Amino acid sequence: SSIPSGHSARRKKIGVLTSGGDSPGMNASVRAIVRVGIARGCDVYGIYEGYRGLVEGKEKIKKLKWDDVRGFIHIGGTVIGTARCMEFKERPGRLQAAENLIKNGIDALIVCGGDGSLTGADLFRSEWSGLLAELVSLGRCSAEEIEPYRALTIVGLVGSIDNDMSSTDITIGAVTSLHRICESVDSISSTAMSHQRAFVIEVMGRHCGWLALMAGISCGADLVFIPERPPVEEDWETSMCDLLQSHRLLGKRKTIVIVAEGAIDQHLKPIKPDYIKDVLSSRLGLDTRVTTLGHVQRGGAPAAFDRYLSTIQGVEAVEAVFRSTPELPSPMIGMCQNQVTWQPLVKAVEMTHAVAKAIKEKDFKRAMELRDPEFAEEYVAFLQSTIVDDESIKVLPHQRLRIGIIHLGAPAGGMNTATRVAVRYAINRGHTPLAIYNGFPGLIRGAVEPLGWLSVDGWTTRGGSELGTNRSQPDMDMGMVTYQLQKHNIQGLFLIGGFEAYTAMLSLEAARGAYPALNIPLVHLPATISNNVPGTDFSLGSDTSLNAIVEACDTIVQSASASRRRVFVIEVQGGKTGYLAVMAGLATGATTVYIPEIGITLAMLQHDVEHLVELYTHDDPNRSEGRIILRTETVSDTYTTDVISSIIKEEGRKLFDSRTAVLGHTQQGGTPSPLDRIRATRQAVKCVQFIEQHAFPTLEKASAMGQEPPVALCSTPESVAVIGIRGSEIVFTPVRKLLDETDMKNRKSTKSWWLSMKGLVDLLSKKVDHDEC
Ligand code: ATP
Repeated sequence: SSIPSGHSARRKKIGVLTSGGDSPGMNASVRAIVRVGIARGCDVYGIYEGYRGLVEGKEKIKKLKWDDVRGFIHIGGTVIGTARCMEFKERPGRLQAAENLIKNGIDALIVCGGDGSLTGADLFRSEWSGLLAELVSLGRCSAEEIEPYRALTIVGLVGSIDNDMSSTDITIGAVTSLHRICESVDSISSTAMSHQRAFVIEVMGRHCGWLALMAGISCGADLVFIPERPPVEEDWETSMCDLLQSHRLLGKRKTIVIVAEGAIDQHLKPIKPDYIKDVLSSRLGLDTRVTTLGHVQRGGAPAAFDRYLSTIQGVEAVEAVFRSTPELPSPMIGMCQNQVTWQPLVKAVEMTHAVAKAIKEKDFKRAMELRDPEFAEEYVAFLQSTIVDDESIKVLPHQRLRIGIIHLGAPAGGMNTATRVAVRYAINRGHTPLAIYNGFPGLIRGAVEPLGWLSVDGWTTRGGSELGTNRSQPDMDMGMVTYQLQKHNIQGLFLIGGFEAYTAMLSLEAARGAYPALNIPLVHLPATISNNVPGTDFSLGSDTSLNAIVEACDTIVQSASASRRRVFVIEVQGGKTGYLAVMAGLATGATTVYIPEIGITLAMLQHDVEHLVELYTHDDPNRSEGRIILRTETVSDTYTTDVISSIIKEEGRKLFDSRTAVLGHTQQGGTPSPLDRIRATRQAVKCVQFIEQHAFPTLEKASAMGQEPPVALCSTPESVAVIGIRGSEIVFTPVRKLLDETDMKNRKSTKSWWLSMKGLVDLLSKKVDHDEC
């Protein structure tokens, strides 16, 4: 990285505080800010208890050293505390706060909190020169004293569990909160199923339905109520009962309704869980229970995504401190299209308030528009894959297709979710979804069967592959593959899997000339924990796997610290791709990572071992410290996990010991993570739409001529594509085009957006301590 270390003439002093409601990931931000700040030659001060600490000063403002933030990354809430502070809302409180900053020599403040906290921060900055003048006129500071602190730098980070800030796609803590909600709803679902009960579950979100909607999608709820989109019907109670009744009539044994705290009807009248319960009990006779999840949603240990998000945003916040000038508006660090962004903080807050205002004015269209672009799309995807047999979205009879769904490669979290959504959406459109069991060998044997609405019930939360999956390629018997496709009249094929599915797509396309039955839309949804498929930034299953690895690493670090000073060398999967190692390294605070993209040399090992000796030499001798190193399984034939561990053990002598851990198949994860379920839902709907888009023109033509549809529906290269997430966009790329970004030998994409994070893992573990320099 370009971040230089060293000393400037006057060492910059940065204060960091967390404010408003706590959110998981705040600690990881503080850790990143402290360490990058120190690495850049600054002193970083923790301001304890939010603005209260700023107003009270004294021991509430403490310089944080490199080691003070050790272990922060996996702790939920905020270690430096947060509080609601009335005094800071008044000018005398802010005057006191200004004096405390001056006395401590701090002229840059990084605030992590919600819109209230950020508004307060900006107000503080705008008043700064007035506050300084007042301090001088009151004799509380001298003119010389304030001179070096003429300008106050403010940088905002958004810590908020309900993802309610505009101008950023996601806020720190929201994903972890969603994890907790999904765990709870998953548990509730099993008891609901057993007793055939209905559950109405209230989740947080006063003006924002993100948690409710995403929980609805992730948990396969029957209905969600959110503030931005009240039910359109005047008599929504009847529509709700009709919908839930239709699901029950199909044979569903449970009913799950998720309600955001701020859910309202068209007249802004709150929709409360107890009222829904009364309606369901009295009108449908359902045994209905209400669960209010409450503070469980604050999260606990942060999910992998929040650790990554808050770390890179923390790093960016320090960068922003250096780049800020008195003329520029205070920046808020956000996230857009998977890129860290800077927005003027005031504008972001204004837009956030505009959502609440739009809702108040009943302008629900505007409220939806003000959310991130995915939100409206997700909402539609939820409806269209949930409402049973939705007549309103049916295609014309001659457009109805038979769509085959097949799983390939190793199981990955989200494969079943994607299948469920594709099946339900296809049925809603009037198509016939067909399961192809056990990959291409299954197809060759003719293991093909229509899937019904109820047959995929509960698949959202299931790990593994319900259809069965394997690595065999279609060219094992292309003749038989095409024979079966034709026999079952499959007019579109949806492949869900990893690199095997990608190569299968290439062979299927190559065989199109010889076999007309392959001239149908072929679409591949990447699903593999390795995240190595070209055409997407995130494959399904990669987030589930990261969470499984992060959890395992947390446990290992704990055991390593509990027993003695120990370095664990942990082997992770990933084929020839270091994605899992790098991202898990960042999320767990690993000392370093060894990945195939970089390889291992003797010089690197020597350097890393010396670093460990240095770290343990300076650690408090009375504390046992565990550290971890992650190693992708394929990185080197010579420097195996055992060899590296032995070297570390040998060199550690009496200072520290080493052990290995091979995570193996636990990395596939059990239950798919919410992010994987959401990504699966959004993309599966698009894949069915892709098949339609490429098949319809030929069907139209045949129908207009009064003919039966031909076997060959389309033959363009565009009709064989991989769906992917690029930033926050969903894109289809023809497989042929992707060859340019494919490393066939190593079975991976050559585009690795995450590779630069490797430097960050090292930067955040490479101790720098001014006091000792
Ligand atoms: P959450 O999303 O959890 O509600 P928040 O940051 O919006 O987070 P608030 O309670 O609104 O939470 O604000 C936290 C603190 O920020 C307040 O207690 C107060 O000290 C300060 N603050 C909020 N609004 C202002 C304001 N307009 N002027 C000055 N300070 C403010």
